[in-house]
Amino acid sequence: MKIFNSLKTVTIVMFMVPISFFTSCNDSNNDESTNTLELSNADTEALLFMLEEEKLARDTYEYLDSKWGLIQFVNIKISEQSHMDAIVTLLEKSKTPYTILPYGEFDDDHLQDYYNQFVESGQLSQANALQIGATIEDLDIVDLQEFIDHVESASVIKVFESLQCGSGNHLRSFVSSIELIGDTYTAQFLTEDEYNLILSQNHEKCNL
Ligand code: MN
Ligand code: MN
Repeated sequence: MKIFNSLKTVTIVMFMVPISFFTSCNDSNNDESTNTLELSNADTEALLFMLEEEKLARDTYEYLDSKWGLIQFVNIKISEQSHMDAIVTLLEKSKTPYTILPYGEFDDDHLQDYYNQFVESGQLSQANALQIGATIEDLDIVDLQEFIDHVESASVIKVFESLQCGSGNHLRSFVSSIELIGDTYTAQFLTEDEYNLILSQNHEKCNL
C-alpha cells in the first residue's frame, strides 16, 4: 500500500513536469511572467549602476536629514529606498549578484565623489542642502533617460520610468522649497527646455 502510494505520487509528478515545462517554455519571451528574467550584460550594468545612484540619493538625504531635520528629506529618503528595492527585485529576478555598501560608501568613484561633495557643501546651510536635493534629482532624471533610451528589457524600462516619475516629483518638491526661501535652481544636467517642462507638470502618481 505504501509502495502503491509512492508510485501514485511519482506518476502525478511525472505528469506535472511536462505541463510546467511547457508553460515556462511558452512564456520564455515574456520576461514579466517567468521566474527568471533574462537580461543582456548592458541591461544588467544599467541596473547595477542605477542601484548605486539611487543609493547616492538615499544616503545623501539620510545625511542631510540628520543634519537639518527637514521632513522633505525624510519623505524623499523613504522613496529612494523604494527605488533601490525595485531595482533589487529585478537583480534578484535575473539572478544577478549585487552588493549594497554601507551608508556613504560607493563602488563607483564618480558617485563617491558626488557624495563627498554633497556632504561637504550640504552641512554648510539648509539652502545648500536643498540645492543638493535638486541637483541629485536633475542628474537622476538625465541618467535614467539615457538608460531608458538604450536598455532592451521591457521590465527594466518600466522600472526606470517609475523611478524617473518619482524623480520629477522630487525635483519639483526641492525647487519649490528653494523658491520659498527666495533662491533659484539652475539645471545642471537637464536642458533648460527639459527642466521647464518638468517644472510645469503637476505632482504625478508613480508606480513606486
Ligand atoms: Mn530615486
Ligand atoms: Mn529622487
